Amino acid sequence: MAAPCRLILRLAVVSGGGSGIGRAVCQRFASEGASVVVADRNEESAHETLELLSRNHKGQEHMALGVDVSLKDSVGRLVNTIQSHFFQPPSICVTAAGITQDEFLMNMTEEDFDKVIQVNLKGTFLLTQAVSKAAVAAGISKGSIITVGSIVGKVGNVGQINYSASKAGVEGLTRTAAKELSRYGIRCNCILPGFIESPMTDKVPEKVIYKITPLILMGRMGKPAEVADVCTFLASDDSQYITGVSIEVAGGLFIG
Ligand code: NAD
Repeated sequence: MAAPCRLILRLAVVSGGGSGIGRAVCQRFASEGASVVVADRNEESAHETLELLSRNHKGQEHMALGVDVSLKDSVGRLVNTIQSHFFQPPSICVTAAGITQDEFLMNMTEEDFDKVIQVNLKGTFLLTQAVSKAAVAAGISKGSIITVGSIVGKVGNVGQINYSASKAGVEGLTRTAAKELSRYGIRCNCILPGFIESPMTDKVPEKVIYKITPLILMGRMGKPAEVADVCTFLASDDSQYITGVSIEVAGGLFIG
């Protein structure tokens, strides 16, 4: 069955669009009629996603761009390039770029703590700020910013002191952005994926997966496309009265 076209004439930027959840979001947005800018530090994988979009969604124009979300200049260049190419800023933004650098609290280096905060938290701040400034300056009347947190930001996780702190920060950032941007018609919401199959979780040892899976009510890991479904709902007018919330997409992991 064809996807409903809820994002026709919308322009979206997806950081981390070269892999996993970000790639699935790009594909789903394109299938709903959006033009998509795939933004990733890994330009090769961003172009692979673009190739998928260009093959399957020929009706719209898509683009792949390199960006390091942790660097203000790089994020600024990204948004400027989008505006010069499409003659408008994006009205939908998903901040899916993220990294892990796991270690126990007592062994975590300052460098690895900083690295994860720079990408996951500061990167979310920089992209949210650049996109919202451009959208407000261009007089865009409705926007949707979807940040990607994690269930781990709520409940913590052994070996992820840096990652859990960064993702808890993303939730607070999102609620504040929602309060400041509602007057401009820009909604901001955060999704909290649980345990989703992707290159990020491919690194998780088999024995850890074995221990976590029974804690998921749905009895299995999630798929990137299932996260993309929720992002599409939040990007579309189907959620037009929803802002400042976090939505768990975790199959019932850690609910009790
Ligand atoms: P992934 O590793 O498959 O994709 C992450 C993408 O981000 C990669 O393409 C990578 O190149 C890009 N990236 C990394 N650093 C970047 C930077 N500085 N600038 C631009 N791009 C950068 O991971 P994923 O599983 O698809 O995760 C996507 C998001 O979802 C991340 O924020 C992650 O923390 C979050 N998340 C994932 C899970 C999960 O179980 N997979 C659970 C909770 C949250």
